[in-house]
Amino acid sequence: MQEALFYEKLEDEKVRCLLCPHECLLNEGKIGICRVRKNISGELYALNDGIISSANLDPIEKKPLYHFYPGSLILSIGSYGCNMHCQFCQNWDISQPKDSNFNLQPIVPTSEVIKTALNQKENIGIAYTYNEPIVSYEYVMKTAAIAKENGLKNVMVSNGFINQEPLLQILPFIDAWNIDLKAFDDSFYKRLTGARLAPVLETLKTVRRSNAHLEITMLVIPGENDDANEFKQMVDWLANELGEDTILHLSRYFPRYRHQSAITPAHKLLEFYNIARQRLHWTYVGNIELDIGSNSICPKCQNIVVWRKGYHTAVRGLDEAGNC
Ligand code: SF4
Repeated sequence: MQEALFYEKLEDEKVRCLLCPHECLLNEGKIGICRVRKNISGELYALNDGIISSANLDPIEKKPLYHFYPGSLILSIGSYGCNMHCQFCQNWDISQPKDSNFNLQPIVPTSEVIKTALNQKENIGIAYTYNEPIVSYEYVMKTAAIAKENGLKNVMVSNGFINQEPLLQILPFIDAWNIDLKAFDDSFYKRLTGARLAPVLETLKTVRRSNAHLEITMLVIPGENDDANEFKQMVDWLANELGEDTILHLSRYFPRYRHQSAITPAHKLLEFYNIARQRLHWTYVGNIELDIGSNSICPKCQNIVVWRKGYHTAVRGLDEAGNC
């Protein structure tokens, strides 16, 4: 079994996990909030190490990443567990597992994932996605390091709830991130995810300062995070702290798991799209087909440079260096 990185041993066989801001204090035999890190005899172990819940060759646009190798495919793998407990989780069957969900599954060695990635035609790399990859930290780190040596790209699709030191150590191995910004309201995070807003904002700033590519996704949930004033504050923060070229995806909500709001109406997504476009050059609307919000439009000449319909993509107005 894989011993965890980032924890401290305490008296009476207790441990404190330091991977994410929950910093779970665990007595012997106890499991963390993420349900996949366990104190066994005073040492912390990653129970989900090498356990793959699903693997698919996905369009990169499905992550979503729109400005990172548009039109390409990427081997996407997921495991089990999450350090948030979102009431509206779209993948709750793997993010909120019981032990029995995964403890009888075979362990897939890193070498197997790399071999599969290299054997897939037109595959650019490996995306760590579906559940929260932060809680598979050790597996992602070792896989990403070897993937990089083999010329593959690494992508993290994450909630961004990670402590700064583990983030800084994994950053050099990750080429692109899509990070959820679920709301601009700490009480939303506490009430509906069991986490906090401030560490996610810190993660966004740290990733933005790095060399990695960053795109951000917000799931717009009626009655929960769809206040226009709060959204304006979020957009201002993104523009001021991360820059006006920040890429934002607004995603349509569908009822899932323990949360049963109405599906996000198209007019709300359009309203948010128009608010975001006042400060951000690159805003997209996903999980719905609309006339606007899927193409990339050059902020200087206003021509379409990347056309999209569903997961079909055509780069139309860019040269090989990506210039309009
Ligand atoms: S990674 Fe899991 S065990 Fe560690 S602090 Fe976060 S929720 Fe707790």
